[in-house]
Amino acid sequence: MKLNITQLRYMSADEFRVLTAVEMGSRNHEVVPSQLIAHIAKLKSGGVNKILGELARTNLVARVQNAKYEGYRLTYGGYDYLALRTLSKRGSIYSVGNQIGVGKESDIYIVADDEGNQRVLKLHRLGRTSFRNIKEKRDYLRNRNAGSWLYLSRLSAMKEYAFMKVLHENGYPVPEPVDQNRHTIVMGLVDAFPLCQISDVAQPGKLYSVLMDLIVRLACAGLIHGDFNEFNIMINDDGSPVLIDFPQMVSTSHRNAEMYFNRDVDCIRAFFKKRFHYESKVYPKFSRDAEREFSLDVQVAASGFTKAQQKELEKLQEEVGRDEEGTSEEEGTSDEEEEEEDEEMEDQEVPEVDNQTPTETASSDVASDKATLATEQL
Ligand code: ADP
Ligand code: MG
Repeated sequence: MKLNITQLRYMSADEFRVLTAVEMGSRNHEVVPSQLIAHIAKLKSGGVNKILGELARTNLVARVQNAKYEGYRLTYGGYDYLALRTLSKRGSIYSVGNQIGVGKESDIYIVADDEGNQRVLKLHRLGRTSFRNIKEKRDYLRNRNAGSWLYLSRLSAMKEYAFMKVLHENGYPVPEPVDQNRHTIVMGLVDAFPLCQISDVAQPGKLYSVLMDLIVRLACAGLIHGDFNEFNIMINDDGSPVLIDFPQMVSTSHRNAEMYFNRDVDCIRAFFKKRFHYESKVYPKFSRDAEREFSLDVQVAASGFTKAQQKELEKLQEEVGRDEEGTSEEEGTSDEEEEEEDEEMEDQEVPEVDNQTPTETASSDVASDKATLATEQL
């Protein structure tokens, strides 16, 4: 999924107003009826329909015809737009550069603030690889009443940001957290190579113990990374590691904590054996080394990502993980699949999609807005 940068520059005030109305309507409609959109946007329905057509043409919203009525839903493209606009208004992003990563469930871009400082924008894209088994997940979502993939991507971004913040504040080697909105986070650029791209290190034993120490240090603070592998560890020129990618972090009090802990340890052992032919009899054990000294997860909850949200996301991640075992990764999804998804998710109650005050965004703010992302690329 590409960021549609051109679209960001040329959106009119009315288009933005309508897009915001679709987002607001999504709070309690999986498919937002056109009439409701017109009502929220306070525009004549003829005009709104024309604008909706335009927004659909550029894939910011998708037209959905379900059994009962026709309506629209926000797409990742529309959600990207809204997030980028907010981040740009706050001064966190001024321009968007190259895409540097396509993860299974994220897109990563280099961005810059208005002083030219390079940063990294991560857009969470939950559900992207999960369409093969979408039926089960839809049922799951419906049961949980957890809402759309956009909402879950937002939860995932909130979680990642909360953990990054707390880890950073407590002196762990992680990127600097800069900002978070909707399904996105902005963080400092780590000018380093991921471990997976490093073919040789001077002292593998030294790096090995630094990494194992990091796993233990996290566990002593009550945390397990959960995906501690060569793709999520960047290595600085001086050989020190920087840890990235936190949506799957779990507490050491999680019922499967030992399994997650051992899996992180085993990942490093296996990688060092394969890549550097380095093996050591010494490695951390959960029962012996994960002695909890203090609880960073309490700080995480205090930072705005609640225990309830954590639980909700964990449940989904477990479901997705289980369903995806043995299936190959798929990039993107066809419109047909997305349409089908909406039909089946019709009328589902969705939780809030944004924590900003809706009325403000929909009225006063909009009039003066002519897609203010005025930058080289945006
Ligand atoms: P995913 O959840 O999709 O695995 P990651 O957060 O691991 O996403 O990021 C994917 C890739 O993007 C990483 O392997 C790394 O190469 C790059 N990346 C992510 N964050 C940064 C950053 N702050 N600085 C530099 N590169 C980054
Ligand atoms: Mg990763």
